[in-house]
Amino acid sequence: MVWATWLHRGWQRWQQRRALRRGDPAAIPEPLWQQVLAALPLLQALPAPLQSRLRGLSAAFLARKRFSGAHGLAVDDTMALLVAAQACLPLVYRGLPALAWYEGFVGIVLHPHEVRAPRRLTDEAGVVHEYDEELAGEAMQGGPIVLAWPRVLGAADGEGVGHNLVIHEFAHAIDLRGKPLGQPADGCPPLPRGWLGLAPAAARELWRRELAAAYNIHRQRVVMHEHFGAAAPWLDPYGASAPAEFFAVSCEAYCVDRARLAAEHPVWTALLDALFAHPQAPDGPDALAAISAAAAP
Ligand SMILES: [Zn+2]
Repeated sequence: MVWATWLHRGWQRWQQRRALRRGDPAAIPEPLWQQVLAALPLLQALPAPLQSRLRGLSAAFLARKRFSGAHGLAVDDTMALLVAAQACLPLVYRGLPALAWYEGFVGIVLHPHEVRAPRRLTDEAGVVHEYDEELAGEAMQGGPIVLAWPRVLGAADGEGVGHNLVIHEFAHAIDLRGKPLGQPADGCPPLPRGWLGLAPAAARELWRRELAAAYNIHRQRVVMHEHFGAAAPWLDPYGASAPAEFFAVSCEAYCVDRARLAAEHPVWTALLDALFAHPQAPDGPDALAAISAAAAP
């Protein structure tokens, strides 16, 4: 009977939506997941249980977010999943509860090319400069997150070393979470309750202190490279432009090559480990001693 078929299809759709929402890995069809894994070498390096967890997280992410394409760009399932899988990568150790870190926005807008954003800058002489800035992506309070689609693919092609546009913009979203409207990202995301066994004020103070220390080391390395012929730092020099950018650039590097970041910035990486609940994150009463040990030469 026609109505029975219609009811059955409705039931199937409802079940699929439910499976997506609760983060069932099987809610992402196998061929689609394989396609995304093939496009993102970064994910191929993950152990199978983490790949499965990322697949479930991506499903739950897709159920909670709304994708749209600007200037006529049609966003298909593969494109949305390519973004979702990269956006969820920093959350893979914390799992589903950490999706709350992205609850401040719903929209994700993909542009067919880099976005031109009008900028206005007053220089030291008081002269106002108006210009257009080419942006590969942008995250703002309340959303949406804007990404240039070719750059999402660029990351998939391994563009640059330690770079990933999607992780960069979603790191800004993590940073902006819970900040009052109009307050810019500053590299200090809200820290989980009981983080490193510290009271909230002490946790924030430790984070700010180590962020400033790592940021200053990076700035010095960039200056030494640009003006004194020293070797280029491994971490993206763009991270030397502001603490918020240092946080975003560090999150990219952390997800792309954690061991290399740890070699460059051991204490800062230990703090990121604790933020993202990496299995090797310092934990318990000895956590701070372990972080101090990482600081030792
Ligand atoms: Zn940025």
